[in-house]
Amino acid sequence: MKILDIFEQRQHTFSFEFFPPKDEISAVDFGVNAGKLMKLSPSFVSVTYGAGGSSRERTFALVDYLQNKTGLTVMAHYTCVGASKEKVMQDIEYLKSINIKNLMLLRGDPPKGAESFTPHPDGFKYASNLIEAVCSKFTNVFTIGAGCYPEKHPEAETPESDIARLKEKTDAGADFLITQLFFDNNIYFDFVEKLRNADIRCRVIPGIIPITSYSQVERFVKLSGTAIPDELAEKLNSSKDNPKRIRQTGIDFAIEQCKNLLKNGAPGIHFYTLNKSGATVEIYETLRGINTRY
Ligand SMILES: Cc1cc2nc3c(=O)[nH]c(=O)nc-3n(C[C@H](O)[C@H](O)[C@H](O)COP(=O)(O)OP(=O)(O)OC[C@H]3O[C@@H](n4cnc5c(N)ncnc54)[C@H](O)[C@@H]3O)c2cc1C
Repeated sequence: MKILDIFEQRQHTFSFEFFPPKDEISAVDFGVNAGKLMKLSPSFVSVTYGAGGSSRERTFALVDYLQNKTGLTVMAHYTCVGASKEKVMQDIEYLKSINIKNLMLLRGDPPKGAESFTPHPDGFKYASNLIEAVCSKFTNVFTIGAGCYPEKHPEAETPESDIARLKEKTDAGADFLITQLFFDNNIYFDFVEKLRNADIRCRVIPGIIPITSYSQVERFVKLSGTAIPDELAEKLNSSKDNPKRIRQTGIDFAIEQCKNLLKNGAPGIHFYTLNKSGATVEIYETLRGINTRY
């Protein structure tokens, strides 16, 4: 099913993001966790495309399995890192042939060790170029998602220029947006208002990650520069040496964050599950308990 058709039927969507497991043990772990999450009947699930295209075969195999063997609605992430335009089109043709109806199209991050993104000599430079090319060759075949950054993409000169670039993505054919993770809802709501002022009208689904360890928070801050609200930072710092308490703090915070997002108009939640199920199940069950419209 195309995600746009799901939007027609539902005011809110709940979706789960996975990454393709790297080896046999993590495949078993993934199966166990994905099984628990599938019981929650997500609106759709998505599978990431490893940095630098490193997981191409595993991503394609996993989306094939999920799409054709489980009855889930699947969205395949795809990036243009290291691929010529011809190769990109072959890959998209392949995804179409295995019945994939939804794509999250991204530029991608530089491969490990590289400092900045260098497009393939015959490739696409920005996600908007990729989206435009896919939409013109595969008219109305896919629902297209794209990424957005409430706290600005790290390479963008200013928040305003980043939003102008985002408008190029929706003009090129992106049907909806999923945000980079964030913890301060005010930043999300201000961002959505700016998008509406820039005439970006599509759904902007908040991407949420439940904090489950202290090192994870440090990594998020380092990688995406995301702001941690003072109250949350204090709670995390005071529980630094108590992993159980950190996890509960993270889950409690995510529940309140999601409740507030939904109450104030967010069109659903996209959970970055990191292939774990415990925290997401707990949060989702609580949200479902308080609101039966999903
Ligand atoms: C929801 C989500 C899912 C993701 N999934 C994956 C994944 O599966 N695999 C993966 O490798 N990465 C993934 N990423 C990370 C993403 O690949 C990186 O954030 C990457 O650095 C940017 O990708 P983009 O598609 O947003 O790029 P773009 O939209 O191309 O933007 C990249 C930068 O270029 C600037 N820019 C855009 N157009 C122009 C222009 N015409 N002129 C000048 N500057 C311009 C933008 O402002 C921005 O700073 C995901 C990110 C999000 C938010």
